Amino acid sequence: MEIHGDARVAVVGAGPSGIYAVQALTDHPEVVGAVDVYDALPAPFGLVRYGVAPDHERIKTIVDTLRQVLERPGVRFLGNVRLGVDVSVDELAAHYDAVVVATGAATDRHLDVPGEDLDGSTSATDFVSWYSGHPDTEVERFTAVARAVAVIGAGNVALDVARMLLKPVETLRGTDVPEHVLDVLGASPLTDVHLLVRRGVAQVKFSPKELTEMGEIDGVDVLVDPADTELDPGDAEELAGSAVRARVVRTIQGWAQREPTGAPRRLHLHLHTRPVAVTGDDRVTGLIVERTQVRDGRVVGTGVQEHLEVQAVLRSVGYRGLPTDGLPFDDAAAVIPHERGAVLRDGVPVPRVYVTGWIKRGPTGVIGTNRRDATETVTRLLADLRAPADRGPTRSAEELLGLLAGRGVHPVDWAGWLSVDAAELVRGAPSGRDRVKIHERSEMLRVARGENGAPG
Ligand code: NAP
Repeated sequence: MEIHGDARVAVVGAGPSGIYAVQALTDHPEVVGAVDVYDALPAPFGLVRYGVAPDHERIKTIVDTLRQVLERPGVRFLGNVRLGVDVSVDELAAHYDAVVVATGAATDRHLDVPGEDLDGSTSATDFVSWYSGHPDTEVERFTAVARAVAVIGAGNVALDVARMLLKPVETLRGTDVPEHVLDVLGASPLTDVHLLVRRGVAQVKFSPKELTEMGEIDGVDVLVDPADTELDPGDAEELAGSAVRARVVRTIQGWAQREPTGAPRRLHLHLHTRPVAVTGDDRVTGLIVERTQVRDGRVVGTGVQEHLEVQAVLRSVGYRGLPTDGLPFDDAAAVIPHERGAVLRDGVPVPRVYVTGWIKRGPTGVIGTNRRDATETVTRLLADLRAPADRGPTRSAEELLGLLAGRGVHPVDWAGWLSVDAAELVRGAPSGRDRVKIHERSEMLRVARGENGAPG
């Protein structure tokens, strides 16, 4: 690939959305000469590495495609640099022709029910980060205490966490899950997972494949009240237009016909059920739930309540984007306002600053959705570069790295990441696994900087 362009672009976020932006940018070497990809973590690949469930190995192979993009000529990885903390958007804009923010949705939505903050009640994203070996989650974050867990939400993340809880640990031993996580899951006394869905069978957001997988776990009975799987009059019409949703409904209705086999673990699917309060003195001992109805598309309580005895609650009710200092933010939608990817402040484009991925459109879609999204943003960016509206950056990217070094911020470069990658592969070998992840940031940094001697 011959590069003729002299534009330098900073992409912030080395997850799929950022990397698809890099791909779209470097598809135009006649305009873009260099792309620096910053990430808060010392590792690239964002939610593919730290969100996609470890047992979804086929989805994780997308890393191979993403890696090739980061290895394209003119692309540099600069990990371990936090936007808004180590470097500001204004500083990036002063040193690059364009800045693309692809920071995703870094936190999660809340239930807003009493007791939500009790010990033992947390977000599914926290649990996902832990079993994915995310460096910002403590190694000892979760322990094996709960016999029954409530998972709240009807999306694919809820299915991921319920499956990871219920699966026999032996089936996870071939994955990249850190050893200490396997130890905790292996020692778990868990017998029951209660999956709470606040609407009906026709409104769940589960994907058919993930749902089918949920019903096929060894040693797990799936229990659903058949009466709850009957369709409302409006549902049938809605489902007629969606083969995917109809398949989801058929799967759940099929579960409702199953006889329990006496399996050691159970998944209880509670349709039309919402949480009202998490109970317990200093930690979770139960969950009060209420039956619901859907009226005119809205969820309303019926006043009929039940107490579930659970020792942990995982809310899985969606991710949420966080504001970044120096950038506008739509607090209601938790996204950065934009026009075809150009960031808008009070309706006016912020010169040379763009946005893509979940922080642009909200936490929806699958990995591939980010590709279309990035194409839209980069199309707009390239059009602006070809007809610049302001005078562009005043300083070079190298000057910015000097500024960061002065602050004690030393990015992990591609070679540093490759050292971490190699060390993880070596750690997997003794147990016949492809990879065992390094969980702690300090250790990742030591390995990235070659301070660790032999990995292991
Ligand atoms: P999601 O698909 O938006 O699901 C969130 C769920 O939470 C919805 O069912 C929603 O119900 C429910 N909810 C929201 N507020 C609630 C409340 N206060 N009480 C009870 N329930 C509440 O989000 P997600 O599961 O976090 O997934 C995020 C994205 O990643 C999705 O696009 C998903 O498909 C994708 N993903 C894909 C995979 C995969 O392909 N394998 C795996 C993981 C994630 P309502 O519909 O009633 O609002």
